Amino acid sequence: MDQAHHTRKTRQITIGGTKVGGDAPVVVQSMCATRTIDVDQTVAQAHQLADAGAGIVRIAMDSEKEIPALKEIRTQTKGIVLSVDLQENYKIADRVAPHVDKIRYNPGHLHHIEKKKSIEQKVKWLVDIARDNDLAIRIGVNCGSVAPAFLDKYPGDQLAAIVESAAYHCDLMDNLGFTRFVVSLKDSDPNKVMDANRRFSERRPDVPLHLGVTEAGLPPDGIIKTRIAFEKLLAQSIGDTIRVSLTLPNERKHEEVIVGHKIIDDVAAGRFISVPDFGAGLNIISCPSCSRVENEKFVELAQQVKELTTYAEKYKITIAVMGCRVNGPGETDDADLGLWCGPTTVNLKKKDRKIGFFAYDEVLPKLRAELDRLIAERSAQVN
Ligand code: SF4
Repeated sequence: MDQAHHTRKTRQITIGGTKVGGDAPVVVQSMCATRTIDVDQTVAQAHQLADAGAGIVRIAMDSEKEIPALKEIRTQTKGIVLSVDLQENYKIADRVAPHVDKIRYNPGHLHHIEKKKSIEQKVKWLVDIARDNDLAIRIGVNCGSVAPAFLDKYPGDQLAAIVESAAYHCDLMDNLGFTRFVVSLKDSDPNKVMDANRRFSERRPDVPLHLGVTEAGLPPDGIIKTRIAFEKLLAQSIGDTIRVSLTLPNERKHEEVIVGHKIIDDVAAGRFISVPDFGAGLNIISCPSCSRVENEKFVELAQQVKELTTYAEKYKITIAVMGCRVNGPGETDDADLGLWCGPTTVNLKKKDRKIGFFAYDEVLPKLRAELDRLIAERSAQVN
């Protein structure tokens, strides 16, 4: 498949056998949504993604219990470049490292554990592991989990907080003489993704960037939202790897990769779509799902929310549907109405206020009632 060759100024690094940055083609990544302990399913999905053209396949790791599974997954995926997401448990990095080609850490999650150690000490530990195991690193900053020190330093300016947090971690890498890293600055709002990546790339034009719009949602809206950001950034030669995050059932997960290549090909050929203004009407966001999803009804629920709410399409309201209780509570705070899925119940929120827990087959009427109430409030404000 043809890929765009950019005149990018970033340095080139290698991740496994894949070149990223500089004059290398933009690499499309994706992430397994299977449970990591389910070796057969995860191996099958890694091949499914690689066969569709994923240059890097990411796997989430939450605990050391998953390490034997990861070891077996590595054995059965020779030739596939594997990245691992350390989520909130960076301390397993040393045992994960022998089985992967890249580790991703989130600067916003380093403070949770080993509170007596400094961020510098923790990053040095990760860099030493990367060096010893011939790995690359991704510094993966996310608007939903910004390091508190940077939120305190830039009150009310989340964009500055995430850009400065990423730049600070780049400085730490520089001080350690480690160059084999990429940065990502992600959000569910394509405009924030554009602003953050533009600002960061002005600040650090040498650092390869991985682009992503998190929780973009179901196709086709999720694809459109992602294209809003990727078209504009790639056209400006910003972005060395990309991931299209879509809410899809496992058997269709590889469509993320196909869409990613299509966007790259279209940008390279000068084909741009016209995109709706998401700021003007109803905006449904839903996470792409991953191994943390505890109830498979999540994808169906996201679809049902979309169908249920079409009557409100002219209202500027954001509804977020998230697949798990780990990221769901925080990632729904900025939505007008939020739903995050637990094993047996769905939690309904209005902004950061909890409304209640409801069974999967009871939550939709509750959502409808809250949406009607919100529309009435907005109408009262206008009149
Ligand atoms: S919200 Fe939870 S289930 Fe959805 S992608 Fe994020 S971590 Fe995975």
